[in-house]
Amino acid sequence: MLTTTKEPLDFKAIFQSWVDGTNKKWGHDRNKTLGGSEAFGCLRKAWYKRNGFEPDPEYEESWGALRRGDIIENHIVVPAMEWGAKELKLFEFLMGGENQITLFDGDPDDFDDNGRPEGVLSVTPDGLIRGVARNALAKYGVVDLGTDCFMLEVKSIDPRVDLSEEKAIHHGQTQIQMGLMRQTTAFKPNYAVILYINASFLDDIEVFVVKFDEKKFKIAQDRAELVFKTTDPSKLHREGVIDGTCQYCPYQQSCLDTTVKAMPGKTTDKKRQTDPALVGDLLKDELLFRRRAATKAAKKAKEELDRLNEEIKEVLRRHGSNKAQGNSWSVSYTMAQGRQTLDKSSLEAAGIDVSEHMKLGNPYEILKVTFKDLDDEDA
Ligand code: SF4
Repeated sequence: MLTTTKEPLDFKAIFQSWVDGTNKKWGHDRNKTLGGSEAFGCLRKAWYKRNGFEPDPEYEESWGALRRGDIIENHIVVPAMEWGAKELKLFEFLMGGENQITLFDGDPDDFDDNGRPEGVLSVTPDGLIRGVARNALAKYGVVDLGTDCFMLEVKSIDPRVDLSEEKAIHHGQTQIQMGLMRQTTAFKPNYAVILYINASFLDDIEVFVVKFDEKKFKIAQDRAELVFKTTDPSKLHREGVIDGTCQYCPYQQSCLDTTVKAMPGKTTDKKRQTDPALVGDLLKDELLFRRRAATKAAKKAKEELDRLNEEIKEVLRRHGSNKAQGNSWSVSYTMAQGRQTLDKSSLEAAGIDVSEHMKLGNPYEILKVTFKDLDDEDA
């Protein structure tokens, strides 16, 4: 029956409602384990999610990339693999599409003597290819699989992304897939294939092969354990700051609150500043000196980038074109308008007390490292 409403239609809201109503239903509580796709992301973010923290009020979940991936997986990759299995009879395609399964390293509802959950890691692979010859991946540099199977993982990518190797987070995810598959089933894959499919041109497919590494699987297990045994998020590194994913994080405010709370107090006492344990930790593995070298390298790289940018602009100017393109690259050179800013003196001249309308931004950290006897200083 049609529901007649006097409200004007909002198509975005219709899509959002459809997404909310048709989201994938998982057979397990995903907050009880650390998922394979999260294990090598920011652990602090994973911690907030599992400890009842609310996303920032202004955070909006974007469903586009996730649904794009589902479409490509379910309508392109799964049918193609089933075709390879049933029509071409090249292999068996297991645990894919509707037969996907989630693997766990233990039962998250069982607890050990210390009250820790037995299972902390889970993963849902896109499939397992089985019944192949040991040289099945020779085209991709693996002459001997050592077994008759390998894992399959599918990623859809933005066409602008240029990959020379698989992304670190996906590499880690496949390590967990292989590790848990080996640990919990009769299959012992030594390799995983990651298919990166260009979301604009579906025939643009990049293939990367990942070799199982027991050490990396163990690291993933340790990371998962850390999330469930830590009670203080400030003890978890802010990995989003390092991999540049903070801008997509739903817990930016909570993370800032944690950081502010963990900030050491003002230390005026010279004795504390020169405490051997503190100094020892800062000099351990040449931490301060490695930072100094990194700052120098970044400065040098920035100078080189600026120089190359100027050269490119000069070439475009010489040829009178603001765009250029080749098979795998394109260049565009435009002039952006300056940012609009409020004219403070004009507001004051109009009799407006600007100070009444000022608001304080979020606090931020400043780290300064100075080398007295050396020729430079950085901040
Ligand atoms: S804001 Fe960044 S560092 Fe903090 S939890 Fe989120 S992703 Fe991690």
